[in-house]
Amino acid sequence: MRFETLSVFPGVFGQYFDASILGRAQKKGIWEFVAYDLRDWTHDRHRTVDDAPFGGGQGMLMKPAPIFEAVRDISSRGEVRPHVVFFSPCGARFDQRAAERLAQQERVLLVCGRYEGMDERAYSLADEVFSLGDYVLTGGELAAMVVVDAVVRLLPGALGDDMSAKDESFSDGLLEYEQYTRPADYDGRRVPEVLLSGDHQAIREWRRRNAIERTLRWRPDLLESAELTEEERAYAAELVDGSRAVLDGGGDEWARS
Ligand code: SAH
Repeated sequence: MRFETLSVFPGVFGQYFDASILGRAQKKGIWEFVAYDLRDWTHDRHRTVDDAPFGGGQGMLMKPAPIFEAVRDISSRGEVRPHVVFFSPCGARFDQRAAERLAQQERVLLVCGRYEGMDERAYSLADEVFSLGDYVLTGGELAAMVVVDAVVRLLPGALGDDMSAKDESFSDGLLEYEQYTRPADYDGRRVPEVLLSGDHQAIREWRRRNAIERTLRWRPDLLESAELTEEERAYAAELVDGSRAVLDGGGDEWARS
């Protein structure tokens, strides 16, 4: 897979992409990366990419011309046209499903905004527009790094052990179950007994129930569309009833400690 970025800060990606899992995956040829400098598609002496907004208001906007020229020029290179992604707080929320979809692409061009954002016409170049969440970043570079990171770890061979991405949070619509390592007793805090039992069937069942409990507690919105069996749905419903009883009784078991 090939990721390309278009931004005014092409130098910020390298150190992160060359480290650890992403770096090893590049060396193994699982993915490759090119950072383009938007200023290379300007024609004035100052290599200007921004201008004041029509109608007034604070800050500067990215001009349409360099973005149109760059995206068209980059897209025409190579055999496959890239899937073009823009970033904006006004985009669709980027999530694990979107990462899985992007991982099917051969070539993705990530276009990073700066300043107060872009001239609206530039967005017509996008196949999709993503937002990381409900907050405003100073630039799209961090968003691009998040997307690359989430996608590359899904590519076959990237994590070393192909199974390790399968059990994780969101893979089946649930948060991941709790995990523990040695010691079994840390300062009086004991690991759940079942995990020490060696009973793999019991461990599998505990993990599944634990994932449902955690999802219900921290992200109940996810449960609706999670892949659950009848039995698991019944268990979730039972928990919901139980929690209502607790809340009705004035308990605060469900408050984040
Ligand atoms: N004025 C815009 C924000 C511009 S922030 C607004 O109010 O909507 C500058 C750039 O940072 C954006 O063009 C985008 O590329 C990036 N950015 C900011 N917040 C983001 C978010 N939540 N998700 C993804 N990208 C974001």
